[in-house]
Amino acid sequence: MAIRNIRVMGDRVLEKNCRPVEEMTPRLEELIRDMLDTMYDKMGVGLAAPQVGILKRIVVIDVEDGHGPYVLINPQILETSGEQTGEEGCLSLPGKYGQVTRPNYVKAQAQGMDMKPFILEGEGLLARAICHECDHLDGKMFVSLVEGELRDAGSDYEEEE
Ligand code: ZN
Repeated sequence: MAIRNIRVMGDRVLEKNCRPVEEMTPRLEELIRDMLDTMYDKMGVGLAAPQVGILKRIVVIDVEDGHGPYVLINPQILETSGEQTGEEGCLSLPGKYGQVTRPNYVKAQAQGMDMKPFILEGEGLLARAICHECDHLDGKMFVSLVEGELRDAGSDYEEEE
């Protein structure tokens, strides 16, 4: 088990376009295992490779729907529909949340650890997570989509003037 260091907003690696994965290697398998360990350790629902400093098109997602974790290599969103507005956060911006509108349904194609293509359909939180993590692969942070103010987590937060 290896927990990797999560890059935080302001780190230029989070603003870059990630490269497609062409073949699975032992190194990438280790990266994916570490990404899962890191996501669970930080209690996130998703993590993208650039968040641990690797510019590859890989994301992991676990929304505790009983089917995860999902490992998406070279994911592409094929279809979206509907709309949902809700709180969103990111492990690269710890402690901050904001309202973001996303599609309520997403159909994506990706490759798994075995590099075989598969289709993943998701609604609600899974749809939100797929969109959020795919954005990371194009160097986009959710803050650009936040409606209104970013808020701090926790009611015990004391404002300093
Ligand atoms: Zn994120």
